[in-house]
Amino acid sequence: MPFKALKLSDSVLRGVQAAGYTDPTPIQLRAIPAVLTGGDLIASAQTGTGKTAAFALPILTRLGNHGRVRVLVLEPTRELAAQVETAFHDFARFTDLRTVAIFGGVGYGHQRTELKRGVDIIVATPGRLMDYLKERTISLQDISILVLDEVDRMLDMGFLPVVRDIISRCPRERQTLFFSATVPPEIAAVASFALRNPTKVEIGVARSVVASVNHALYPVAAEQKFDLLEALLAKIEFDSVLVFSRTKHGADKIARRLKAANHSVAVLHANRSQNQRIEALAGFKSGKYEVMVATDIAARGIDVAGISHVINYDVPEKPEDYVHRIGRTGRAQAVGDAFTLVTPENAGDIRDIQRFIGAKIPELRLEGFDYKAFAARPQQAEPQRPRGSLPGQIRHKGSFNRYRGRR
Ligand code: AMP
Repeated sequence: MPFKALKLSDSVLRGVQAAGYTDPTPIQLRAIPAVLTGGDLIASAQTGTGKTAAFALPILTRLGNHGRVRVLVLEPTRELAAQVETAFHDFARFTDLRTVAIFGGVGYGHQRTELKRGVDIIVATPGRLMDYLKERTISLQDISILVLDEVDRMLDMGFLPVVRDIISRCPRERQTLFFSATVPPEIAAVASFALRNPTKVEIGVARSVVASVNHALYPVAAEQKFDLLEALLAKIEFDSVLVFSRTKHGADKIARRLKAANHSVAVLHANRSQNQRIEALAGFKSGKYEVMVATDIAARGIDVAGISHVINYDVPEKPEDYVHRIGRTGRAQAVGDAFTLVTPENAGDIRDIQRFIGAKIPELRLEGFDYKAFAARPQQAEPQRPRGSLPGQIRHKGSFNRYRGRR
């Protein structure tokens, strides 16, 4: 079914066309009609499934023309708020609807100016939004659509109390759209507080790994992790690589060592200033940095078109983060690779991840790498890769640019 059949307004359809989308993704097919009816929605969808457009397009259609602040979208991180606001802004380019992103770590000036000009849609992180609510710069009295996005991550970040406060400041008569990859009891409580008789949309198995990602484990001794990372980077043909570290300190350390090894590296974690975070992400998107080292919170939901590889330098703490991390590559039908370095201490975590995703992740060894502690392990040959470029093959960067320019 094409987008045209989905009863979106003409100006929104033009925005979709300009974005280069031809066919709706499964979550868009299911969620768009549900949102257009005006009812509540609770959805679990994998990252990279087209979730943003699934709510943005019907919301823009429902709003029609410029008026008061009628839509509030809450996001757990600044990067996500910026990204989702950009998506709304792009899809709305043939309408007179106005959007603003509200998040901390930057000055108030620009945000205040935009608010004064009058906006229809606010995409915000909870903390900075509360500042404006307390000083009464923003009123939520006309909110008719509330979107709570990535609610499980809001829980992780300790935002749930303030999210509840914000929900209770919105009118009772409203449409609420609720997105969460997982629904543990705390989140179920917020859902029942926020939603009325919601339509449920579950896309695929919320736990599955995006089908277009080839993923593999690389067992290694703890003291050889960095050497293996370097060896992998030297061997694989990549456009851009996102490296995950469990800790901020670890991310800084990896970045320092990669820089010393002449890689162009960006770092993204919560202790960096907002300007540093913006610069890191923009530089990674533009290709200025070939590697970005990030922690989970900073990287959640981030959409960079050209990520060819995700490398988990550290095994994620929570099984669902494995799915989120490797969902950073292979987004929207592109092919990506995701490698996880595993030390013997990670055996339990890997078991949990495999149970969570319901699949066994193949174990690989990097040919030519001088393994110290794993020499005696049974070996498995590196599998044939469908796109015909074995990790050992090196091509000139940019010779295989299937990612760039997709957005
Ligand atoms: P999201 O899950 O919303 O972060 O979207 C993931 C990526 O898929 C983004 O780069 C979107 O621009 C892209 N995308 C979303 N919907 C479509 C579609 N129907 N066709 C092609 N690309 C899409």
